[in-house]
Amino acid sequence: MASQEDVFKKLIAHCKEYGFVFPSSEIYDGLAAVYDYGQNGVELKNNIKKYWWDSMTLLHENVVGIDAAIFMHPTVWKASGHVDAFNDPLIDNKDSKKRYRADVLIEDLMAKYEEKINKECEKAAKRFGEKFDREMFCQTNPRVLEQKAKLDGLHARYVKAMEANDLAELKQIIVDYEIVCPISGTKNWTDVRQFNLMFSTEMGSTADGAMKVYLRPETAQGIFVNYLNVQKTGRMKIPFGIAQIGKAFRNEIVARQFIFRMREFEQMEMQFFVRPGEEMKWFEHWKQFRLRWHKALGLGDEKYRFHDHEKLAHYANAATDIEFEMPFGFKEVEGIHSRTDFDLSSHEKYSGKNIKYFDPELNESYTPYVIETSIGVDRTFLSIIAAAYTEEQLEGGDSRVVLKLPPVLAPYKVCVMPLVKKDGLPEKAREIMDELKFDYRCAYDEKDSIGKRYRRQDAIGTPFCVTIDHDTLEDNCVTIRHRDTMEQERVPIASLSATIGEAVNMKNLFKKIVNG
Ligand code: ATP
Repeated sequence: MASQEDVFKKLIAHCKEYGFVFPSSEIYDGLAAVYDYGQNGVELKNNIKKYWWDSMTLLHENVVGIDAAIFMHPTVWKASGHVDAFNDPLIDNKDSKKRYRADVLIEDLMAKYEEKINKECEKAAKRFGEKFDREMFCQTNPRVLEQKAKLDGLHARYVKAMEANDLAELKQIIVDYEIVCPISGTKNWTDVRQFNLMFSTEMGSTADGAMKVYLRPETAQGIFVNYLNVQKTGRMKIPFGIAQIGKAFRNEIVARQFIFRMREFEQMEMQFFVRPGEEMKWFEHWKQFRLRWHKALGLGDEKYRFHDHEKLAHYANAATDIEFEMPFGFKEVEGIHSRTDFDLSSHEKYSGKNIKYFDPELNESYTPYVIETSIGVDRTFLSIIAAAYTEEQLEGGDSRVVLKLPPVLAPYKVCVMPLVKKDGLPEKAREIMDELKFDYRCAYDEKDSIGKRYRRQDAIGTPFCVTIDHDTLEDNCVTIRHRDTMEQERVPIASLSATIGEAVNMKNLFKKIVNG
């Protein structure tokens, strides 16, 4: 069996080979952690964005969208806390000259302890069979207890150091636990330093005093500074939400794992403004709604889990992540945060403007509390394509690679193929395509054997292939072939649109979300 790492490498190669994701500026050897989406990738990405956007703005009459600029007044980032606190603790290994996040090195060690405990349990479970009592085993087995003590001790020191922002203690932990650089294998570390993740540039010419501006590290602030504009011009009443999709930029120290951690990426964020005191109710509501959105894609319910935050960001009073089982373990794809009135109050303070909401029902003004749902387009893309990527052994020793994408997100919905390039079949195929193309993105392929053509469409996840043969000219029927089952059926041309429509209509997913 191929290791997870091998599968991930193959997935990256597949994404490039089939026009989903290319390294940025590849002819110049690429730019670290920056990627371009190709002809198929952009379609998949746009479909993901549409699925999110419509699920927010169609299913909720009190959620509207905006599109704010990437550049914002620099004071925005002072008020949001990003200038002072959007830092990662970094450390360098002097031998390999490699840079790491100190917190990630420590978290990796904690994960190793956990892995050892799990291995002991798995071994014992095999030995004891059905009688195995995991809880009892963990409480009594000396080897597990030893690992558990190490893990607990490390965890306590780590949380305390992170909360106190104690960089010297983070370094000390790395020294005490003898963490080595994975490249050089040595413990020759520099001190831990804070590193701000925001990119900055200058606006205006230097002659008239250029202003330092930042590339936004999150899209949320564009919503906060516009919330009252939208509320007033849209006559919105609390509770209401504002949705936005846009680019965000972070100078990530350790950028790896393909499009999981990028320096330029895209977020889909929704800020939901509520009465103070009602935030927990809405936090719970949006947690459940967002999980249903993910699950409706049909990639497997067991691939998702919530991960509640232990250490809350300075602005939050509750936070959870939706994690997805990536080829490299469960990882965050979305954050749901109860941000209190932190952002709005802070903008009020820094701008000196009154941005309170007048609640006509209570007849009073207050600063709304905010529940935020924040999901990365690229991480969602990765989760979907990773779950979809399947290598299958077929009867007769053949094999195929198929992207089992949710049909609603697939770049092409159907490929139309004349069996041969003559006898009027291409013309008939074009005629069918000319009808379908108004509703569905169609591909046309007349080259090579039908088998090869099927493989090409499998590789990019096209849910249907339609073959036109000589009989079609007589009976107006075609062969429709289903991607996942490879089943073929003979159907009238007139029924094609309905069959495809049933499989790729977003409405079906929305109904699943709403009806649970
Ligand atoms: P992480 O802990 O992985 O750095 P985060 O908690 O800082 O992520 P948020 O600030 O909550 O992330 O951002 C919301 C979402 O934006 C994340 O769930 C993720 O999907 C996406 N995201 C954040 N940083 C990146 C990145 N560097 N590359 C791609 N997507 C990202």
